[in-house]
Amino acid sequence: MTSVTKAAESEAYLKYKDPKLPINRRINDLLGRMTLAEKIGQMAQLDLENLTATTMRDYSIGSILSGGGHVPRLRATAGDWINKVNELQRASLSSRLGIPMIYGVDAVHGHNNVYKATIFPHNVGLGATRDKELVKRIGAATALEVRATGINYAFAPCIAVCRDPRWGRCYESYSEDPNVVIEMTDIILGLQGEPPANARKGVPYLGGRDKVAACAKHFVGDGGTTKGINENNTVIDWHGLLSIHMPAYYHAIIKGVNTVMVSYSSLNGKKMHANRDLVTGFLKNTLKFRGFVISDWQGVDKITDLPHSNYSDSLLAAIQAGIDMVMIPHNHTEFIDILTDHVNNNRIPVSRIDDAVQRILRVKFVMGLFEEPLADQTFVNQLGSQEHRDLAREAVRKSLVLLKNGETSDRPIIPLPKKASRILVAGTHANNLGYQCGGWSLTWQGFSGDNQTIGSTILSGIEEAVDPSTEILYSENPDPAFVKSSNFSYAIVVVGEPPYAETNGDSLNLTIAEPGPSVIADVCGQVKCVVVLVSGRPLVIEPYLPSVDAFVAAWLPGSEAGHGVADVLFGDYGFTGKLSMTWFRTVDQLPMNVGDAHYDPLFPFGFGLSTVPINAGLD
Ligand code: BGC
Repeated sequence: MTSVTKAAESEAYLKYKDPKLPINRRINDLLGRMTLAEKIGQMAQLDLENLTATTMRDYSIGSILSGGGHVPRLRATAGDWINKVNELQRASLSSRLGIPMIYGVDAVHGHNNVYKATIFPHNVGLGATRDKELVKRIGAATALEVRATGINYAFAPCIAVCRDPRWGRCYESYSEDPNVVIEMTDIILGLQGEPPANARKGVPYLGGRDKVAACAKHFVGDGGTTKGINENNTVIDWHGLLSIHMPAYYHAIIKGVNTVMVSYSSLNGKKMHANRDLVTGFLKNTLKFRGFVISDWQGVDKITDLPHSNYSDSLLAAIQAGIDMVMIPHNHTEFIDILTDHVNNNRIPVSRIDDAVQRILRVKFVMGLFEEPLADQTFVNQLGSQEHRDLAREAVRKSLVLLKNGETSDRPIIPLPKKASRILVAGTHANNLGYQCGGWSLTWQGFSGDNQTIGSTILSGIEEAVDPSTEILYSENPDPAFVKSSNFSYAIVVVGEPPYAETNGDSLNLTIAEPGPSVIADVCGQVKCVVVLVSGRPLVIEPYLPSVDAFVAAWLPGSEAGHGVADVLFGDYGFTGKLSMTWFRTVDQLPMNVGDAHYDPLFPFGFGLSTVPINAGLD
């Protein structure tokens, strides 16, 4: 063999592209070929809105996201998404070393940003099911729907332990109780697949092309901030941190989670994005997490807060702390320049950059992205499939918590008869798909009304469930005289909170939105009534309970709420849900969690009445 052919052969054979080699060898080979700028490019995650294919190629950008508020083309089809993602992936593949990018979205209750996707109940409701098998199936369905659009990475699950319902993200938390949150980390097994029993702890895992990389967030203590103020400070001692907020991370890591997102919040006054002891010391060294750590959306900036002139200091602190990928690093060229300067001036050792990049590459190798970088049409029919809608319906009925059902001496009102002369359905949330989906649905703050995606409203679910001879009258805010004179057999009043996300949801008073309270007063004083509360958390309800015959906490049940709510109201299925959050009496009791010395709830953690299915063909 001549030396020329030898050279050509060795050029053609690139170790990192050889799937037969162990991942560590592929990583080392690739890392050895990369320039500092290419390495830093891998550490950047840019918003789809602000990038071009050329940027992806020329700067070897590691990742793209469509964040909650930045999802383009609301009515794009799965095929449109695939084309867009593939176009950008091809750009990445045409970079000097051809390193594929990874594309992240906030698929936090199904592929919730996408038109026609199945929208599952938010986490607070899933926590009430206590059903980890169900949650695993939801993870698997979500992965399929995300893959249907060519996307391979979900910023989920949120494993926050919400200790105060005044927090606007409480509904993203499965529970105030760490044990319930631990159980629910099984959703990772659905999203990513189940690692083999002998898999090494801490090593990221992905089961196949029908799975997506998951992201445990927000590390750590996000649910414990003072007064539930979003992005604020969590004051807690080491024992409290290790027993309340940390255990779910340990379980997520054991289950092979690929990535962890850092919290905007501070811990005992120190910003988590700059917390080297916890991010590097604990998460990476003690818990042996070997996937990559991603910042939150401009979370790095918030270390020193604006002005932007401090960005260099913020970035230094974040990378030193152990953040591997920066979500929204402002201008990517500036990002590369600043980090290069920090490295050249020995403020950041090259070994730290290499640690970040080898983690990012590991996830990409684990995901098989080097072998099969492009999406095809295999999963397009999974988006909003009937099977997934049925699963969401099952999740809804298992998540509903029955708090009151007649007086103890009285006959229970639920199950309701399907055959009744005339039923009133009332309230702001009865016929509003957007309200029942909550935040992180189609857009960051959610939507109102029922024409933005596919699903069943609670009103339509009731209409479908009752006997054809039963007349249903619907009014959002009925006139009391009309209620009195209309001879209703009973009424179903659906009220709650409007949608919100993150800081916009912080609330000090936790009241039912107007005119909800007056609708309850106008209807329930006159007709036998069931109140269904659509909310991301417990609200003030004690004053209304005496006039209400039955009370159902429905949380934020998602696109299939109509059918799921009707299933249990009319007795096709029994109520089984148990509170995953303590139901307080008045807001001045907050924070109040199970196990507290002065625990005086309206309904304790774990409470939930059961009913027997009467229409389920038991004869
Ligand atoms: C949120 C994260 C989310 C990210 C990307 C942030 O504002 O805190 O939970 O994953 O945006 O949309």
